[in-house]
Amino acid sequence: MANQDCIAVINAGSSSIKFSVHALPDLARLFTGKIDQLYRGNTSFIARDAGGQTVGEQTWAASLDHHAAMAFLIEFAESHLDGHRVRAVGHRIVHGGVDFSGPVRLDDAVLARLARLIPLAPLHLPHNLAPVRALMALSPGLPQVGCFDTAFHTAQPALAQAFALPPAITDLGIRRYGFHGLSYEYIAATLPQCDPALAGARVVAAHLGNGASMCAMLGGRSMASTMGFTAVDGLPMGTRCGALDPGVVIYLIDEMGMAVGDVQRLMYNESGLLGVSGVSSDMRVLEASSAPRAQLAIDLMVYRIGRELGSLAASLQGLDALVFSGGIGENSARLRAAVCRDAAWLGVELDPAGNAAPLAGPACISLPSSRVAVWVVPANEELMIARHARDLLAASPGGNRADV
Ligand code: ADP
Repeated sequence: MANQDCIAVINAGSSSIKFSVHALPDLARLFTGKIDQLYRGNTSFIARDAGGQTVGEQTWAASLDHHAAMAFLIEFAESHLDGHRVRAVGHRIVHGGVDFSGPVRLDDAVLARLARLIPLAPLHLPHNLAPVRALMALSPGLPQVGCFDTAFHTAQPALAQAFALPPAITDLGIRRYGFHGLSYEYIAATLPQCDPALAGARVVAAHLGNGASMCAMLGGRSMASTMGFTAVDGLPMGTRCGALDPGVVIYLIDEMGMAVGDVQRLMYNESGLLGVSGVSSDMRVLEASSAPRAQLAIDLMVYRIGRELGSLAASLQGLDALVFSGGIGENSARLRAAVCRDAAWLGVELDPAGNAAPLAGPACISLPSSRVAVWVVPANEELMIARHARDLLAASPGGNRADV
């Protein structure tokens, strides 16, 4: 094990940094962990090895910022990686705009271009970039790779990306981008390994977590997605409303006198499963609740998934496979059963026993007679990022290399 090279993956949000470390060249996961409660006091850290054993745990009375958290992670890596050397760090970055259609080596020039995209994703992008800057300062020679949630969707047909707005507006970059691209890219890479017949198939994948979206794919390429200019469009989510008549926003501001910030909070933080149920944004809590509004929130999500499924199947001119992923998609047999029941008209026949079975990797949960194959594929955005970082490093081996 000693002196083996590895890749670190960072997924940074406003108050947390999730990380994983993968051995080269096969990318087997060595560690996974999280620093939580950044900027909020009682910042906490936990790391587990591949067997799930806790290998590091710490809490700070004060709060850490992104820079201090990255400095701590470097120190932790140095003392716990048992001779492994981090050769590159891959970052999940929410937005790459129209320019970044694949992973990219991060340097000052690229960072400056990405900083100009902050108005497109003000709630997420600054937090994705903060650890990149911290690592540049703390470990200047270490190659860093940016992997974008939008990149997979840049291949969509122009029609799928367009709003019906005048060119003076769309030319400003106001168009549909789509998100969760790393999750869909992983599904697109995994499905043909599960069943080679699905390599060229018409697939609709649903990534259903706290954020939720769906994506139509043809031959592993994104053709349409439910998220658009921002990650608030499309399906109802944990706390986001999903698709909303834009006239509602104007009404809330003009007629009800709501401030823009209040409308934003309503749409992003107070709607979706939480807003409709008044109980929780957590599907487990809703499924266990007897409150009628909890059931209504689930019903609305199932209904909206069904409507979007029809629309996405139309964009593909048919449907060969339906894939569930994300915390809800992977774990809620009840939600999958309801979605498949409503999709019977498309030729979906769920296998109830397969649907109820515990998940240990990708699984087909449709009956052999089903015209549409139904799969559950556990999300693995980290592995996708690690692959991109490894491959980019191999493609430009002359780049700076440094130990962490
Ligand atoms: P994120 O988008 O933050 O990565 P996840 O993919 O972890 O979120 O998904 C979180 C969602 O998954 C929550 O709504 C949670 O309730 C749901 N979930 C997790 N486990 C289960 C389960 N066993 N049954 C139903 N829902 C579950």
